[in-house]
Amino acid sequence: MKYTLIYALLIGTILLSCKNSATLIPEKKEAGYQGQGASPVVPTVNRPVQKQWKGIWTMDSQTYFSNDFDGARLNGVAEDGNDHYTLWITAENTPINVSPWYSFKVWTEQPREITIKLSYQDSRSRYYPKISEDGINFKPLDSTAFNVINPGEGDFGIKAAPEFAEITIEIGEEPKWISAQELYTSTSVQSWVDSLSLKPFISNYEIGRTHENRPMQLMEIKENPNNKKAVMIISRQHPPEVTGFLVMKSFIETISSESQQAKEFRTNFDVFVVPLMNPDGVDNGHWRHNMGGIDLNRDWENFNQPETKSVRNFLNKKSNEGYEFVFGADFHSTWDDIYYPIDSTVIGKKGKIVYDWIENISERLPQKRTNVKPSKNTKPTMVSRNYFYVNHGMPAIVFELGDNTPRAFLKEKGKVAAEELMRLLMEE
Ligand SMILES: [Zn+2]
Repeated sequence: MKYTLIYALLIGTILLSCKNSATLIPEKKEAGYQGQGASPVVPTVNRPVQKQWKGIWTMDSQTYFSNDFDGARLNGVAEDGNDHYTLWITAENTPINVSPWYSFKVWTEQPREITIKLSYQDSRSRYYPKISEDGINFKPLDSTAFNVINPGEGDFGIKAAPEFAEITIEIGEEPKWISAQELYTSTSVQSWVDSLSLKPFISNYEIGRTHENRPMQLMEIKENPNNKKAVMIISRQHPPEVTGFLVMKSFIETISSESQQAKEFRTNFDVFVVPLMNPDGVDNGHWRHNMGGIDLNRDWENFNQPETKSVRNFLNKKSNEGYEFVFGADFHSTWDDIYYPIDSTVIGKKGKIVYDWIENISERLPQKRTNVKPSKNTKPTMVSRNYFYVNHGMPAIVFELGDNTPRAFLKEKGKVAAEELMRLLMEE
C-alpha cells in the first residue's frame, strides 16, 4: 500500500503529457508555449525503427519469458540468481516521450515466487503493472507485490518518476501476462468494431493501409441516409494510451445505444470513428511512434505518414460530398484527466459547444476534477485537433484521460460525455 501511494504521488507530480514533444518538455514550458508564437514544424519523414526480436527466452531455471504475441514488448532478459530477473524494455527509436510500454508472458516448470525488475533504457517507470491469466482480463498487480527503485528527485518533471519497478509474483506452468496497461490489439479492436457493426446503422470499412499493410478501419454510424452533419472521433495515435481508448469506446457505445436520446441523435447526425489510428504501433508494442518512427500527432501538417494521410483523404472526401463536421475529438492518455480545447479567443463562438460540453460533464461528474488547458496555437496544424478545426471547421478537442483513472469511472465518463454532446448538438 505504502509503495502504491508513493508511486501515485510521484506519478501525479511528473509530467507525462502526451502532448509534449518527443524531447520531453516539462509542463512549465508547455504552459508557456500556449502564449508563444507559431511552433516550429516537427519533421515527420520516416526515421529508422528497430523491430523487436520476437520469441521465448528460456532461462536455466526452466523459466520462460515470451513476447511472441501482438501488443507485446520485451527486449531482453537476464537471470540474476535467487529467483530474481532483470527485464529490459526499450523504445522503437529515440528521442521519445516517456511512455515505456511493456507486455510479456512468464511461466515455469518449477512453480515458485520470483521477482522481476523492469528497466527502461534511459526512460523511467510510468505504468503500474497489470496482470492477467488469459491475456484478455487484466487487473492491477497487488500493491504488496510492487516496489519502486530509485524514486527519482524532486517533485516535478520526469526525473521525479521512479527509475525502475520491481514486481514479485507467483508463477507456475500456466503463463501469466504482465502488461503496462490492458491489451487492446488491432485484432481485439476489430472484434469490438465488428460486434457493433451488427447493428443495421453501423458499418466499417478500410480507408487506407499502414506501413505494415494493416487496414486503417473506419466505423460509420449512419441511421438516416439524408444526414450531412457529422462528428469525427479518433483514438490511439499513441499506442499505450489505453485509457483514452476506453473512454472513446464507452462514448461510441452510448451513441450507438437504443436510448431515446441516441435514436433521435442518429436521425440528425452521423458519427465517423477511427478507433485505432496506429495499429502497427499497437501490435508492435511501441511506446509512441508508428512504423515510420514518427509521432503521428505531429504529422497533421505535412502528412508524410500513411495513417494520417488516410484520415485526411477521408475527411476531404466527406467535405466534398457536402458534409459539415460539427464536432471532433481525439482521445489520449496522460498522467491525469485533462481537456485541451482551442482557446476561446481563437475559436470564438464556434467553440462555445466545446466549453459548454466540458462544463456539463464536470457538473455530472463532480467526484473527479478535470483540468482544462486551452491552447492558442492552431498553426502549423501538426496535431489532429488543429487540423480538424483549421481545415474542416470543427470545434475540436484533445480529450486526455489519466493512466491510472479507475476503469469504472472511465466507462461512466465516456457515457456522460456522449450524452452531453448529443444533448448540446440537438439543442443547436
Ligand atoms: Zn497521446
